[in-house]
Amino acid sequence: MQILVTGGAGFIGGHLAQRFAADGHDVVVLDNRDPFYDLGIKQHNVDAGQEAARNSDGSYEFIEGDVRDAELVTDLVADADYVYHQAAQAGVRPSVKNPRKYDEVNVDGTLNLLDACRDEGIERFVMASSSSVYGKPQYLPYDEQHPTTPVSPYGASKLAAERYACAYSEVYDLSTVALRYFTVYGPRMRPNMAISNFVSRCHNGEPPVIYGDGTQTRDFTYIEDVIDANMTLLHEDAADGKAVNIGSTDNIEIKTLATEIRDQIDPDLDLVYEERHDADAEHTHAATDRAEELLGYDPDHTIREGVAKFIDWYRDNRDWYEPLVRQS
Ligand code: NAD
Repeated sequence: MQILVTGGAGFIGGHLAQRFAADGHDVVVLDNRDPFYDLGIKQHNVDAGQEAARNSDGSYEFIEGDVRDAELVTDLVADADYVYHQAAQAGVRPSVKNPRKYDEVNVDGTLNLLDACRDEGIERFVMASSSSVYGKPQYLPYDEQHPTTPVSPYGASKLAAERYACAYSEVYDLSTVALRYFTVYGPRMRPNMAISNFVSRCHNGEPPVIYGDGTQTRDFTYIEDVIDANMTLLHEDAADGKAVNIGSTDNIEIKTLATEIRDQIDPDLDLVYEERHDADAEHTHAATDRAEELLGYDPDHTIREGVAKFIDWYRDNRDWYEPLVRQS
């Protein structure tokens, strides 16, 4: 079975491609190695996928290219059975500076893939969406019926992309699923995120920096749980045409998370507070009933377990990963 993973040099796509290859599938990765963060991490993601394929009956091919290139996308989709679309211009704060790029990559790029998937009649199109589609909470936890009023260009672009995916399911009978991820973390995570920054600073004897008063809450979701949810969609069609929350069941305040990490690494450190950014969500919290019902989703990792695993990985990979976090 051939699986096209877009954004497969990135954090989540890298883990997905690695798992597919380890399970003996033929994986093709399409990624333009966008310099949003250091390419060294992306190379590690590609290396992990190649290594997984070497140790299994699977294969792994990396294609450097852009989801905005409709011709290339059509060629690659023609050979695929499944498409897992993870490529995106990520990041809430940078989207405020350059909204048009978010539209071009996240919306037009997704449309290129959807057109090709419809024309080639693939088995399923699974796309990465985001908790950012919800915007300011009218109630928590967000279930999928919660109004979608994104407060950043990034959130708006992810919402437009998933709406297209749902519409293609309805109009063209294409099997599509949008997984709304809630702050994913784990080995090889993007360097410019709270957990990687907290861990790095604590390892260097520096206090973790919290933006705002630290009472913001998040569902930090461990990467392995996110990958498990995606894997289910190779054989489960109950979520076709739907958007599904993929979060943790362990909502936590940022200052509690920072304290937890500080206590595991260097309990003598203080916490430092700086000004909060307007585009950052105040609270995100996922109701995962739909994921549980349709995908049998049952995340294995509490925040404490996931953070402990990440810290172990960080210590083993500190030589190459830490400099990349610190320069981000
Ligand atoms: P990432 O930046 O690590 O990965 C995205 C990958 O897409 C990168 O390797 C990048 O080079 C590639 N890419 C960007 N523009 C491209 C283009 N035009 N053509 C081809 N490839 C392109 O981000 P991630 O954290 O792995 O996120 C993966 C997906 O999950 C994204 O769609 C993101 O919006 C979504 N998501 C992530 C999180 C999270 O917490 N990490 C939360 C919600 C949603």
